[in-house]
Amino acid sequence: MIPLFVCMVRNNWIGDAVQVNFDTWNLFHRWIGRIVALESFAHMGAWTVNKIDQSGWSGVAEAYKISPFLQVGLMAEIALALIAVASASPLRHANYEFFLSLHQILVIFFMVGVYWHLVIDQLPQITYANITIAIWVLDRVMRIFWILRWNIKMKGGKVSCNVAEVIPLKGANAVRVSVELVRPWDFKPGQHAYIYIPRIGWWQSHPFSIAWASTEQEFTESEDATWVEHGTAEDLRRSQIFAAETGEKVDPMVSVREHDAQHLSAPRSGGGNPYEISPHHLSPEGHHHNNRNSTYSSHPASRLHRLSMPPLPVYHRELVTTQAPKTKTTMHFVISKHSGFTKKLYDAAAKANNGNDGEKGEVAPLQVVGMFEGPYGGHHSFDSYGTTIFVAGGVGITHGIGYVKHLLHGYNKGTAATQRIKLVWVVKSVDNIEWVSDWLEEILQMPNVRQVVEVDVYITQPNEAAHTSSWSGRGGVVKLYTGRPDFDIIVEKAVKRQVGAMAVNVCGGGAVSDAVRAAARKYIDVSSIDFSEESFSW
Ligand SMILES: Cc1cc2nc3c(=O)[nH]c(=O)nc-3n(C[C@H](O)[C@H](O)[C@H](O)COP(=O)(O)OP(=O)(O)OC[C@H]3O[C@@H](n4cnc5c(N)ncnc54)[C@H](O)[C@@H]3O)c2cc1C
Repeated sequence: MIPLFVCMVRNNWIGDAVQVNFDTWNLFHRWIGRIVALESFAHMGAWTVNKIDQSGWSGVAEAYKISPFLQVGLMAEIALALIAVASASPLRHANYEFFLSLHQILVIFFMVGVYWHLVIDQLPQITYANITIAIWVLDRVMRIFWILRWNIKMKGGKVSCNVAEVIPLKGANAVRVSVELVRPWDFKPGQHAYIYIPRIGWWQSHPFSIAWASTEQEFTESEDATWVEHGTAEDLRRSQIFAAETGEKVDPMVSVREHDAQHLSAPRSGGGNPYEISPHHLSPEGHHHNNRNSTYSSHPASRLHRLSMPPLPVYHRELVTTQAPKTKTTMHFVISKHSGFTKKLYDAAAKANNGNDGEKGEVAPLQVVGMFEGPYGGHHSFDSYGTTIFVAGGVGITHGIGYVKHLLHGYNKGTAATQRIKLVWVVKSVDNIEWVSDWLEEILQMPNVRQVVEVDVYITQPNEAAHTSSWSGRGGVVKLYTGRPDFDIIVEKAVKRQVGAMAVNVCGGGAVSDAVRAAARKYIDVSSIDFSEESFSW
C-alpha cells in the first residue's frame, strides 16, 4: 500500500527527484492498485477456503457474526472491490468528478477497515498502515500550504483571496484564466497547477498547464521618491515642436503631473530588471543634472530604482526612489470546454458578456474568486537539444508555447544548446490562434527569432476567416496551412536540417500523439532523437 499511495500524491518528491511526470505515476498507481486488490482477495480467499474446509459455510457466517476483526476486514474487502469496479476506464471517464468523489469515500472505508483489522489483533503490519496514512496526510498538508502560499493575502488583519479573471475566447469554446499571485514566482515551462473556482465547483480542483506567466514590477510613489528631469532647454523646445507637429501629447510636465498621485506600474521586458541601476551608473556627486544621457538623484543611496515615463522624444522625467519595486506574477491558463467544470466556467464567462465570446467586439473579464495549487511537473528540460520539435493539438499549445520562449531566451543568453525550434500546432479554426496570439507576438519580438523559430499552424476546418485573419499571409516565422500535417514529412525535414540531438515532444489527442510517435520512431536508428509525450488526461 505504501507504493500505491506514493504514486497517487500530487506532492511526490520521489517524482521530482527522478523527474517522472504525474501521468506515469498515475499509471503505476492504477497497476499497483490492481495488484493490491488481487493480493487482498487472495488473502481473504485463502482464509475462506480453510474455514469452509473446517466448518463449512455456516462456520464462515458464524465467524463473521462474532468477530469484529473479520467484520472490519470484510468492510475493507467490499470497499476495495467497489474501487476496482468503479476505476474501470469507461466508468472513470464517463464522469470523472463522480468517480473521484466515490473513489475517495471508498478509500476511506478501505483504510479504516484495514487499520482496525490490524489494531484489533495488534498485528505488526500497523507500521505500514501508519506510513501510508502519513503520506496521505502530508500530501494534503502540502496542498493546503501551496494554496495559502500563492492565494491568500493577510494585510492589516484582513484576509483576502486571489481573484481570477476569466475571458471567453473568440469562437473557440475556450476561456483564458489569469490569476495574479500574491508572491512572485519563477515559471518553468511544462508545469501545471490545479485551479479552484468555488463559484463554479466548490469542491473541485482541475489540472491545467500554465501556458504563460507574466511579471510586472510595481512602484508606489513613496516619500523618498524624486522626479528627475532629463533633457536640456533645447530638448524641451524640440519636444514641443514634435508635439505640435504630431498632435501627440508629449508635454512631459503635464504627463508627469497626471501621474503624480497615482500608483505607477510598467511591464518588465526580457530578462533582468530594467528599473534597477547599480551604483556605478550614478554621477559621483549624486546631484541633479540637466543631461538626458545620465541618471541622477539627490539621494545618497547606494541602490536606486527608477521607473521611466512612457517614451518621449527627447525630454522626459523619471521617478527615482530607493524603494524596491514589488514584483507581481500572473499565471495564465487556456481552458477548453468539456462537459463538467470547464463548461460551467465557459458558460459563466460568456453569460457575463451576454453570450459574446469576442465575435462581437471587446469582452470584459468575469472576476471570480480563483485559487491555484501547485506548481507541479515541468520535469522535462529541452535545453540540451540542438533541435526541438513541439507538436500541439488544440489546447495542447499551452504545454509547448512556454518552452519556445524559454529555449529562445536560452539561445540568446547562451544557456541552452538550442539552435532550431519548430512548433507545429494543429487547430480546428483560425480563431484558435487568438488563444495565444499576444504570447506569440511577444515571442516574435525576441531577438534572433527568425534564425531559430518556425511556427506552422495547421487549420483543419478552414473557413472564410482563415484568409482574412491577421496571421494569414503574414509570412516570416508563423505560417498558416490548411488541412492536416504530415508528421512523417515534418520529422524527415527536421532530421535533414538537424543540429545536435533532436527532441520531439507532443501534447495533443491520442491520434496526434500516435502519429508523431510513429514518425519519430522511423528515425531512431539514423539520428539522435528523443520522443516525449504529455497527456492531458489520466
Ligand atoms: C497535466 C494536465 C494538464 C492539463 N492542461 C490543460 C490545459 O492547459 N487546458 C485544458 O483545456 N485542459 C487541460 N487539461 C485537461 C483538463 O484537466 C480537463 O479537460 C478538465 O479537468 C475537464 O474538466 P470537466 O469537469 O469539464 O471534464 P469532464 O467533461 O467531466 O471530463 C472530460 C475529461 O477530462 C478528464 N478530467 C475531468 N476532471 C479531471 C480532473 N480533475 N483531473 C484530471 N482529468 C480530469 C476526464 O477524465 C475526461 O476524460 C490538463 C490535464 C492534465 C492532466
